[in-house]
This record gives sequence, structure tokens and C-alpha cells, in this order.
Amino acid sequence: MFDYRKRIAAAQRALLDSGAGLLVVAPTDQMRYLIGWAEGGHERLIALLLPAAGEPVLLVPSMNAREAAANPAGVDRVVGWDDGPQWYGQVRDLLNEWGAPGAAMADDELLAVHLLHLQRLFPATRWQPAGELLAGLRQLKTPDELAALEQAARDIDAVCEESLAGLREGVTEREFGRVILDGIARRGKGPSFSPLVCFGENGAHPHHLSGDTRLKRGDVVIIDIGSADTGYASDITRTVAFGEPRDPGASEVYATVYSAHMAARSTARPGTSAEQVDSAAREVIQQAGYGPQFLHRTGHGIGLSTHEPPYIVQGNSTVLQPSMCFSVEPGIYLPGRFGVRIENIVTVTETGSRSLNAEPPAELRIVEPV
Ligand code: ZN
Ligand code: ZN
Repeated sequence: MFDYRKRIAAAQRALLDSGAGLLVVAPTDQMRYLIGWAEGGHERLIALLLPAAGEPVLLVPSMNAREAAANPAGVDRVVGWDDGPQWYGQVRDLLNEWGAPGAAMADDELLAVHLLHLQRLFPATRWQPAGELLAGLRQLKTPDELAALEQAARDIDAVCEESLAGLREGVTEREFGRVILDGIARRGKGPSFSPLVCFGENGAHPHHLSGDTRLKRGDVVIIDIGSADTGYASDITRTVAFGEPRDPGASEVYATVYSAHMAARSTARPGTSAEQVDSAAREVIQQAGYGPQFLHRTGHGIGLSTHEPPYIVQGNSTVLQPSMCFSVEPGIYLPGRFGVRIENIVTVTETGSRSLNAEPPAELRIVEPV
């Protein structure tokens, strides 16, 4: 379904353009992106060695060689190494074959210990992080990737809707998180991250960990949840009130966040920058007097990773292009009271942007206790 060979060829072209002779990819989403396979090696090195020209090599502990050889990209040069002598000899041989590069790139998530050994083996090679080069490829989605992201978005919309309707007085955040996980599992999918469920004043902390707080009438509720389809993630946040909100400011704050959300979305189009989208949301919230209570960036790219470039944040001048996908998730957090966040995933089109998720309500939705 995904054209891994095309991705590998694009990475090699980008390497050539950058002047680096080699890319070392750790078993991360970067590796999944390039070859459709990635398995953690714990402390043992698993790496895709991609020369700027020529066939890639998968370097794995010998005991992983069979699984590695079945990689969907069809990388058929799999080099196994053994626990005793380690991988240093094999890598030295490969580099002698390819020629030690003047410059090489390492996956941002390659363990430092492995990079240190590589540096020892090739003292003349200059190492650079590969994050930007890989982001340049990964942030432009193919139709196959968009289809997977849309399916994941539809799944999580449905899970969100049915679980919110099932809110009950006295349920704990953790129990409600399990309701969401069950809904995702019923669709034959897995979560892309642990559900974030915040009742009442816990919502004032964007990264509150779901705990034993029980739902009370009048609470403002935030749920931030995601699933994955063929590896591609969804991520949605909805804020509702359980019965008439206890805090008289809830509706106004919700309306402000909604306006900020829509302002960011209408700014997102080819040619505008990531930080302009952030500014659009931030200005609405600042004008309403809640600037300092918008504690985080407006959004993040999404794909195989739930968080990946482009980040929708001040200082990111990345120019938006069609097929990029990212979250728009402004929020206002009022300690001791409640929080509001509204998150949809959008993709940039030829003329603007379109949401992969169902539209959030324009006014604070009240879920009536039954
Ligand atoms: Zn989220
Ligand atoms: Zn998000």
C-alpha cells in the first residue's frame, strides 16, 4: 500500500542535496516511515544504514535477522551481528565498501551510546541530526497517508461521540479513560496515546494525568484522545460541561477558544507560515484577556507519529504546503477553575485547509446527567 521504495529514493536524493554521504536511522517512526518495519533492540543496535547512493543495509542483532528480512520495503541486505563481537566490525567493513563519508546524518532518536561508537569508528566524519531532512519528507502526505489519517480521524470522532454521551456522575477519570480505550478496541484499532481525561479544575493543567477524580454535576470536562489506522494517528480534544456548568465563565471561555480555533484554521493555507497560524489563534485569546492562560503552542504535525513537524509555534517559519497535516488546539487554562481546549486535525489543501475531524460545536455543549 505505501511506496517505501519511493520514500527511500527521496531520502537518498535529499541526502545527496545536503552533501551527507550516509543516514543512520534508529528503530523509530523514521524507520517505520522508510521501510515499514521497526523493532526496538533495547540496548542492542538496530539501524537502517542508508548511503546517499546504493542499496540500504539493515544492521540488526542476528536473532532479529529473520524478522528484519521480511521488511515491507524489501530491503534485502540484512547484516546480523552477534552479542560477543558486537557490530563494530560489520560497520567498519560497510564503510570501507562505501567509503567513510565526510558528513553523515543520525536519527534524532538514535541512542547516544550508539552514536558515540559510530564517532569512534569514523573520527573524521562530521555528524548532524537528520530531523530536518526527514521532516521535509514526512510532512508532505501522499494520498495513501491522507486516507489512513482520515480513517483514524473518523474512528476517533465516533469513539468521542459515543463516550461523551455515556458520561455518568461519579465515574473516575481513569474509568472513563477505559471506556474510551474499549471504544477504540471495538473498532479493531489501538490508541495513539493514553487518553487524557480531565474533570473540573484538573482541566486547568494541560498535561494532567487521568486519576481518581470523580465526575460531578457542573464540571467542565476535557477529553484528549487518539487512535491509529495502519500506523497513522488521530488526535482530538473536546470540552463539554456535565450539566449546567458550575463556573459562570465557562461558556464565554469556550466561545473564545472556539473563535481562536476557527481563526487559526482559516489562516492555514498554502503560503502562510506555521507561526502565522499560531499567531491567529493567539491574537483572539489575547484580545479576550486570556493571553497568559494559553500555555502552549497551537498545534503539531501528525502522521506516523502523533507529534511530528510541522509544529504550529512561534519561531517556526515553515511555509505551509498542500497535504501537510497538523492539529489546531488552542486552549485556556484557569487554575482552580477549569480549562478549555478544542482540537481538530486539518490538512492543507490547494486553497485553504480542511478538517479531518467532525466540526466542534460553536457553543459549550452540555451533556445532561441521566
Ligand atoms: Zn490531543
Ligand atoms: Zn494534539
